[in-house]
Amino acid sequence: MQPSSRHFPENARRALADDRLRAMLDKSASGFRLRRRMAADRLPEFEALRDRGRDIKDHTLAHLDLYLERFEAQVRAAGGTVHWCADAAGARDAILAICRAAGAKTVTKGKSMIAEEIAINDHLEAHGLVPVETDLGEYIVQLRKEPPSHIIAPAFHVSKEQVAESFRAAHTALDPARPLDEPSALLAEARAMLRRRFHEADVGITGANLLIAETGQTVIVTNEGNGDLTQTLPPVHIVLASIEKVVPTPEDAATVLRLLARSATGQEFSAYTTFSAGPRRAADPDGPRAFHVVLLDNGRSALMDTEFREVLRCIRCGACMNHCPVYGAVGGHAYGWVYPGPLGAVLDPALIGLAEAKHLPNASTFCGRCEEVCPMRIPLPAMMRHWRRREAEQGLQPAVTRRGLALWAWFARRPALYHAAARLAARLLRRLARRSGTLAMLPGAGGWTRHRDLPAPEGRTFRELWAERRTGDGP
Ligand code: SF4
Repeated sequence: MQPSSRHFPENARRALADDRLRAMLDKSASGFRLRRRMAADRLPEFEALRDRGRDIKDHTLAHLDLYLERFEAQVRAAGGTVHWCADAAGARDAILAICRAAGAKTVTKGKSMIAEEIAINDHLEAHGLVPVETDLGEYIVQLRKEPPSHIIAPAFHVSKEQVAESFRAAHTALDPARPLDEPSALLAEARAMLRRRFHEADVGITGANLLIAETGQTVIVTNEGNGDLTQTLPPVHIVLASIEKVVPTPEDAATVLRLLARSATGQEFSAYTTFSAGPRRAADPDGPRAFHVVLLDNGRSALMDTEFREVLRCIRCGACMNHCPVYGAVGGHAYGWVYPGPLGAVLDPALIGLAEAKHLPNASTFCGRCEEVCPMRIPLPAMMRHWRRREAEQGLQPAVTRRGLALWAWFARRPALYHAAARLAARLLRRLARRSGTLAMLPGAGGWTRHRDLPAPEGRTFRELWAERRTGDGP
């Protein structure tokens, strides 16, 4: 996927003007939020589980080389192969080489954000292969030639009417008279198409929610079972995963899985949780004949010694975006790359560069909800501030922001002048306010007043009120 994060302001404006999109976002996100809260409330040890999950990931990251090597040794012992890939191009080449060696024509795919990150579908298509998404949401956005707009619900932004339109356009054998008004009818149509594709596939690619060092297993969770068909029916299974997905033991994996389902969809556990290890053994009734793990770094190891290291604890549950007022207003496509929302605001600048993604850490109200709900307790707002600081250090801010901050700094270094100016501004704005205590417009605040009134100051500054309170004269 080619990044378009540098166009975030225009993307966001377009999204804000799209009433249909905003209604879809409202409906979907509120459902996720409610289900997450109910699932967390039902589990008395939920907060302790979050601490445990954070500790497991911190420990693993501190010994990442050892756990990855142990994982590789176990995969090899089970008959599989691990391909170490430093960047997206390396991972694409590795996957294409495996597909070519297998003489593949059709490749089925489970949902994988890493696959989006390396744009594997475009690469396979450019080399004459047919990639077929098998997760329903991914299948829908593939037909619509769109990227996913949410990491666990790729078609978050699409209405059922639009899904029906896409099916009618793509499924040429579909009877035009057949009703597709109900979700169950859409599901039946997608299932019939995808069943055929599962049987045609020469290679199946899945992501991995976790890699287990002690056993060499890869773990995926789905609610549709498509991941299992993708990895067991074709003769070759490729697992595409990034290096930070490893955990030491199956018990650690279980802890993370208990957090993942509750935080993502509000389920106690996902409908399908599948552990795989190596290719089919002689006594196995099914499974692939060849098993490959493509392990991707793509900038992650460079984060290890930085203030962004903790984002590597992320388990891709999507809770931060479901609770983010900015994501909730503009949706995932506005972010312009694979990871939207608060996670993207921290991870995207690291993976595609701050010059491209500099708007994303600024697309935050700093309400703190993302950190509050993150199962891995990742301090997302603090890390957005770190990116803002780097943006300033690298001179990437717009000239108007730079000048505004320089002016503020000039005043801040002259406290007497600063407080006099603040007092004057507070009184002046109070006088300009309407009877309701709000301002309908203010130079420099058009982004706010275009959509809503701006509350005017009360007439006195915070310092004045504070001083009164300390001397006992205040309210
Ligand atoms: S940052 Fe936290 S809340 Fe957001 S996707 Fe990752 S684990 Fe989930």
